[in-house]
Amino acid sequence: MVELCDRAIQDEDAGAFLYHQLHAGLTAISEGKDPRIVARLFEMKIASVAGYAPMLDACAGCGREEGPFYFSAAGGGALCTRCRHRDPRAMELEEGVWKLLRVFSAMDMRRLGNVTVKESTAKQLATVMRRWFDHHLALNLKSRHFLDQWERGDDFFKPVP
Ligand SMILES: [Zn+2]
Repeated sequence: MVELCDRAIQDEDAGAFLYHQLHAGLTAISEGKDPRIVARLFEMKIASVAGYAPMLDACAGCGREEGPFYFSAAGGGALCTRCRHRDPRAMELEEGVWKLLRVFSAMDMRRLGNVTVKESTAKQLATVMRRWFDHHLALNLKSRHFLDQWERGDDFFKPVP
């Protein structure tokens, strides 16, 4: 999955890539796609470009590929039952959240379709990405504010008529 993303980034430089992701994200929101999904996907793209994509398909501690997994920001992503103890804050996630995280890490914003999520899934996703960012990317307040605004669908982001 990381490879897919790398391949997408390969052709463009990171700045151009993120610009296109951002543009596609704004278009997606204006088309009525769930801003909570768009914001999380964009966060994942930022993390990937910055070289901080979480490990999701295997345990970040020992490489084991069998779940169940727990999500650990400090541990680098998925932790298996044997490695879970390394991070007391490791979270149990809904299966739907794992699926979306995996989809996000592989997907280009320009290919985002309509995704419908349960409230609980959207909340867990937000918590996961927030913790990931807090731990790995010292996102400045301005950017954080920007993403929060985006998520709320503030007028600022509505297309100018
Ligand atoms: Zn492990």
